[in-house]
Amino acid sequence: MVYDVIIIGAGPSGLYSGLIIQTATPVQSIPEDFSVKIIEAANCPGGLTKYGFIQISKKWAFHGKNLVGALYQECLDAGVSFNFNEKVLSIEENDIFTVKTNKAIYYAKYVIVATGIMTYPDVMLNPGKTNIGLHTPNEMAREFVENYGWKTILVVGNHTKSINSLRSQLAQYFDKADAFTISNKDYSHDSDYINGVPSKLYGEYDGIVYDYNSYKLKNGTTDFLKTLPLNFINGYISSDEFGETSIANLFVVGTVTTPTSGVMAAIYSAQIAAFAIGRRLCKTTKSDASGRFPFFPREKFWADSYQNQITL
Ligand SMILES: Cc1cc2nc3c(=O)[nH]c(=O)nc-3n(C[C@H](O)[C@H](O)[C@H](O)COP(=O)(O)OP(=O)(O)OC[C@H]3O[C@@H](n4cnc5c(N)ncnc54)[C@H](O)[C@@H]3O)c2cc1C
Repeated sequence: MVYDVIIIGAGPSGLYSGLIIQTATPVQSIPEDFSVKIIEAANCPGGLTKYGFIQISKKWAFHGKNLVGALYQECLDAGVSFNFNEKVLSIEENDIFTVKTNKAIYYAKYVIVATGIMTYPDVMLNPGKTNIGLHTPNEMAREFVENYGWKTILVVGNHTKSINSLRSQLAQYFDKADAFTISNKDYSHDSDYINGVPSKLYGEYDGIVYDYNSYKLKNGTTDFLKTLPLNFINGYISSDEFGETSIANLFVVGTVTTPTSGVMAAIYSAQIAAFAIGRRLCKTTKSDASGRFPFFPREKFWADSYQNQITL
């Protein structure tokens, strides 16, 4: 089978692009007749957002789980299919794309890469042992000491200068504070490593601190694409205004393409790319009859929609 679209990553950008392609707009209830599959390395959807409390403004904040939970349910209702616990290892480009995972091989007309920035986002699952440094160093230290009783820490990440800087700021609060640079190579199937850290080192410290800033400086998720003729800047993938890369029909959305962090940016880029792909797939949009939402085109056909006026 050749999928219309395969999306890699089920964070907010992957979920939102899947929803829009399958429904033509995020408010329509009757799905398109497309085959859209989202492949996610973790055992559930949500990406980093499922761990965050999303602060858009001081008074407009909500738990990230609410957002990704709602998007996931809408994707399911619209007919987007999901594979969890499956990691994409490579993409090959011919007339169509061949997407290889640790479990199977898939084929697609369009691919959207929505893999975020962190190589091991699920280190957030075990905050008593692995944690990401989000606050100021003294706040981090207070949390690690008061909540988890850590006396020794290992600061890790893929940007040596950044982790050394964080280590030196944290050192005064701990008996031992070391730093270790993680390669972006995928170690998830290597039993000598735990989340990118050699197993022996991992056991030597009370806590492992993943330096989030490190991954903002250098993207940790894109090494599996290195065989493709894409343009990278510090591991981030360059694209045009619609999210299309230097390879036709290969799109990037969310934080994999911009060092600017945030759910709003992730969703915005997902919307633009999904409309661009929907327009090209150009099948009939079965718009529901409930009226118009001011910001989204709800025409009966993709070809009639405002998006169709955009010159690519
Ligand atoms: C604690 C915390 C608080 C935050 N607070 C805020 C906030 O207040 N406001 C805000 O706007 N943003 C906040 N953020 C940032 C926000 O979560 C991210 O900007 C957002 O999640 C990025 O979305 P994404 O879809 O691009 O990537 P991600 O959410 O990172 O999702 C990427 C997904 O791709 C999967 N993946 C990666 N590689 C592969 C592969 N090879 N094969 C298959 N799957 C793969 C990953 O497992 C992951 O699920 C916060 C983040 C954290 C961790």
